[in-house]
Amino acid sequence: MSLATTFSRALLGIEAIEVRVETHLSNGLPGFAIVGLPETAVKESKERVRSAILNSGLEFPARRITVNLAPADIPKAGGRYDLAIALSILQASGQVIEASLAQRELLGELALDGSVRRVTGALPAMLAAQARQRRLVLPIANASELSMLETAQADCIGSLLELVEHFVQGRQLSALSALSSIPPSPEATPVLPELSQIRGQAMAKRALQIAAAGGHNLLFIGPPGSGKTLLARSLIGLLPDLTEAEAVELAVINSVAAHPFSPPSWRQRPLRSPHHSASAVALVGGGHRVSPGEISLAHRGVLFLDELPEFKPGVLDALREPLESREITVSRASYRVCFPANFQLLAAMNPCPCGYAHDLQRTCRCSAERIRAYMGKLSGPLLDRLDLMIEVPALAPAELLEPRQDTTDWSAVRTRVAACRERQLSRGGQLNC
Ligand SMILES: [Zn+2]
Repeated sequence: MSLATTFSRALLGIEAIEVRVETHLSNGLPGFAIVGLPETAVKESKERVRSAILNSGLEFPARRITVNLAPADIPKAGGRYDLAIALSILQASGQVIEASLAQRELLGELALDGSVRRVTGALPAMLAAQARQRRLVLPIANASELSMLETAQADCIGSLLELVEHFVQGRQLSALSALSSIPPSPEATPVLPELSQIRGQAMAKRALQIAAAGGHNLLFIGPPGSGKTLLARSLIGLLPDLTEAEAVELAVINSVAAHPFSPPSWRQRPLRSPHHSASAVALVGGGHRVSPGEISLAHRGVLFLDELPEFKPGVLDALREPLESREITVSRASYRVCFPANFQLLAAMNPCPCGYAHDLQRTCRCSAERIRAYMGKLSGPLLDRLDLMIEVPALAPAELLEPRQDTTDWSAVRTRVAACRERQLSRGGQLNC
């Protein structure tokens, strides 16, 4: 047979789209061409595939090879098709004769020695393959990001030769379920709020509870050292765990972003706190190879922006649309992708550039004009989306030395927050925010 087809998956946003890899061997001058809108990294796959096949002790056919990646209108990037291309060449040249390849999808970048390297977006590819009732073969390096899913079914390989030996000699592949050493634990240890460690600030703590219960956006204004950052970071501990479906949704975004995924944080809500020098693309997503930004990585969790006025105005303005629509659409000339971005915004800022306006113990050195310019960095529409604005005053030295700690039972508060959220969801189908 000189014609063969294998299946792989392209990545478009968080969607994994089926790609047919068709290979035709014809007579004529030996050559190797890949067609079907491949980008540079895919074109380079010719060299990787050739070396990997030869270094695995197999034969690279000395014929005219045409590989077509269909559908042609989807942009194809990265080395994720290497494995599928190699297998279709081996099948077309009769080195692998396997009918079950039609029930398989192949994903993996080949190294020159024939080993298989990890790819981005393995999780959406596996979910899409399962929906088509095909079994995915993927690099063993991707196994950990799929191991948390109870329903995950895939085969993991370390090299091209392993897969060829499976088809030719019936060698057993390592199934994903056998590899997952960490069982999914719905009762993962919740991050208990660190709020009891913070002295005073009763008002700010109350605001945090309200924000946690209603999913409201919150801004803390206060001098340096008043505990704004610590307060804001403890919000995550008050929020209920993610449901299984929400956790999968978040894991898919992390998989696409090639973000290291740690199984213990499964079902925990994310907290993302980008530095104020972050660009608009880093925050909302985009770039040459469209990838999710901080707001999508904070999906179903908290995006914390410390020193809010220090962010570039264009960066903050880019947040307005996703705050409203809870998703972000990135458009390119020939396609557009949509990332979910349902996050809760938490921000902190000083009351003035020096930080000590309204402080009773220190003197503010800023002119009225400077304070106005500082506050003016925040646009009206952005401030409008911050539901709660709370002043966090500096504590007096006597308060800091006070021996009595916060005695609130914060795990009880966490339970109340969860119950309150449930009531809102059953009443209106969404939070009150
Ligand atoms: Zn000042």
